[in-house]
Amino acid sequence: MIKTVKYTRDILPEEFTNDLSAQSHRFQHVEAVAREAFRRYGYREIRTPIFEHTELFARGVGQETDIVSKEMYSWTDVNNDRLTLRPENTAPVIRSYIEHKMWASSDLVKLFYIGPMFRRERGQKGRFRQFYQIGVEVLGKSDNPAIEAEVIEMIYWILDELKISDTELLVNSVGCPACRPQFNETLRRELAPLLRELCADCNRRYETNILRVLDCKQDAERTAQLTPILDLLCRECNLHFLQFRSYLDHKGIPYRVEPRLVRGLDYYTRTAFEVTSRTLGAQSALLGGGRYDGLSETLGGPPTKGFGFALGLDRFVMSLPHDLADPSRPELYIAYLGERAFAYAMTLISKLRRQGIACVMDFEQRSLRSAMKLADKLKVAKVLIVGDNELDQGQLILRDMRSGEQQLLTEDELLRFFHGQK
Ligand code: AMP
Repeated sequence: MIKTVKYTRDILPEEFTNDLSAQSHRFQHVEAVAREAFRRYGYREIRTPIFEHTELFARGVGQETDIVSKEMYSWTDVNNDRLTLRPENTAPVIRSYIEHKMWASSDLVKLFYIGPMFRRERGQKGRFRQFYQIGVEVLGKSDNPAIEAEVIEMIYWILDELKISDTELLVNSVGCPACRPQFNETLRRELAPLLRELCADCNRRYETNILRVLDCKQDAERTAQLTPILDLLCRECNLHFLQFRSYLDHKGIPYRVEPRLVRGLDYYTRTAFEVTSRTLGAQSALLGGGRYDGLSETLGGPPTKGFGFALGLDRFVMSLPHDLADPSRPELYIAYLGERAFAYAMTLISKLRRQGIACVMDFEQRSLRSAMKLADKLKVAKVLIVGDNELDQGQLILRDMRSGEQQLLTEDELLRFFHGQK
């Protein structure tokens, strides 16, 4: 038997899985709430291909990051193109922003995306090789920290609407090309005597991507005394961070400054942030993002300021309340007994569907008992029973599956009943 590839999975209708984290209606719910947030806040949808030239990620995300150096699914196409399944979607969105000259038609471009990403990571709870992200990018001329606070306010609207609580917002500044070299230098000096005690990854990062040493969980205690980035920010970065924080305060959004938050992608400048959940376990990051001024230039585009985030849809789904009903479940199952009732039911179901009612029937001429069993399995709220005898009297039986109550209705009354519920 052929199964799903390791650390990938199927997202299924609820009747086929008891695993709440893999039920498709829960994914749809998060997507619907996010789309509503994007509508309210003025974001427009972008859909980019799921594969791109490998070079886009090497240049955009950074050759030395874990994502690019270890986790990409890449191949050489028959015409020798080096291609990669996207591990993240900021670089592709910026590519598209440049390719379509979006900068020329608007000073501030606000985009969102929803889709699968691919990273060859070691799988565990909440970590997959194909996972789903919803993200936004704000691109243009302005790097006003008010943009950042507004994005975070929108994130909190989404979290509230989804009833995801027990979260924490962590913020930091990772500086800019003006102050980062000085910080890296300090880090290099302070880390040199500790190197022998640090893990192999950190020894490698010391050479290639020193900021990432701060991200290492294993060595956190050994590197606890290092000078925090925040002490070495240049005047502009410092001011930016203070302003960002004052906007959060103004909006009443609580946060914790986490000086070790550096994030896994190279393109970040200044503001970096993450929202974690206390209920998720080891993979506690619900979402992350930050500012990436200069990424456009790195990819051959015009000077552009950028700010964005990506949320982990899989982890959002894990954090949703357990008792979320599936609104796409059929409302009505039509059971029929006899030939005439079958012909009638086929016409009636078309009328109901045209009215917007989600209803199902099957074509197998079942007994009432077996039809009821099926309706029960489908978890429909109501069953309509059409029998030849009742038809003669112009009557239908509507049964409420929860209470077991039945009522006799004419077709008009039935249509009106469902119409009233809409
Ligand atoms: P990143 O693109 O690494 O900043 O990740 C943003 C968010 O995507 C994280 O906070 C996670 O919620 C989610 N995420 C990243 N990698 C994975 C993965 N392998 N499996 C599931 N979710 C992920």
